[in-house]
Amino acid sequence: MSVTPPRNAMTVDVEDWFQVQNYAGAIGRDSWEGRERRVEANTDRVLELLAAAGVTGTFFTLGWVAERHPALVRRIVAEGHELASHGHGHEQVFAIGPERFRQDLIRARGVLEDAAGVPVHGYRAPTFSLSPSRTAWAYGILAETGHLYSSSVFPGRHMGTGEAEPSPWHPCGGTVLEVPMTVLRAGGRALPVSGGGWFRMTPQAVFTAALRRVNRLGRRGVFYFHPWEIDPQQPRAPGMSWLQRRKHHTGLGSMAERLAGLLDGCQSFAWGRMDEVFAAEIGTAPLAALSKTT
Ligand SMILES: [Zn+2]
Repeated sequence: MSVTPPRNAMTVDVEDWFQVQNYAGAIGRDSWEGRERRVEANTDRVLELLAAAGVTGTFFTLGWVAERHPALVRRIVAEGHELASHGHGHEQVFAIGPERFRQDLIRARGVLEDAAGVPVHGYRAPTFSLSPSRTAWAYGILAETGHLYSSSVFPGRHMGTGEAEPSPWHPCGGTVLEVPMTVLRAGGRALPVSGGGWFRMTPQAVFTAALRRVNRLGRRGVFYFHPWEIDPQQPRAPGMSWLQRRKHHTGLGSMAERLAGLLDGCQSFAWGRMDEVFAAEIGTAPLAALSKTT
């Protein structure tokens, strides 16, 4: 008898190649406007990849990108994906403080909703820079600005949660659900099973075995990648260290193929949007908060 595996969330952080934190020292924010923009073409390729596999997911999109490519935002929604926010200017939460964080969220959500004509409920902090201990204030601001969930925490002591494998929870007893990235405890170590650079640098068989293990334990995974990761032809930024280059460029040439492999029906992983995979927890949050006050 076969057992249906839990569904994993497929997520895409929509930003351009020059906006990654790894490049922050080499590419000034004030030069973004003059850079070659590749995000629209790369995201269209992502849409094709997902459509070919019959998978829908969640696109955490920068307001900065939506301002310049509103038609792309509409295509994301038209293809059946969930539109969510990656903030506006790709600024780390702990670096900007509560007031600038509020402004960044409001601006991004406004631009995204205006472009797409659908409500935005989800948020992912740039570089997983939201920490339940260091920036706990962020959850109240997320709620205030109309967000229902966040997927912004990388588990591990350095990111503010001591637990290696936390389940989705409501930080500070508030209404916003935090869905952390997926980590698997194995052999005394915590292995990231979430995507990004780890996915590009881990042998595919090892990654899929780890994700399968997560699902066998009854847990739902959260996978993420960026459109620039399937673009080996992107410009090289001058002034990068060897390590920065390695971090950014390793595996870009085979990323599209690896993704197709992960999405392949023969792998028997089930994928969906964040608001579908975690619907039960997201849906009950406002009710739970209401019942507390009565
Ligand atoms: Zn990002």
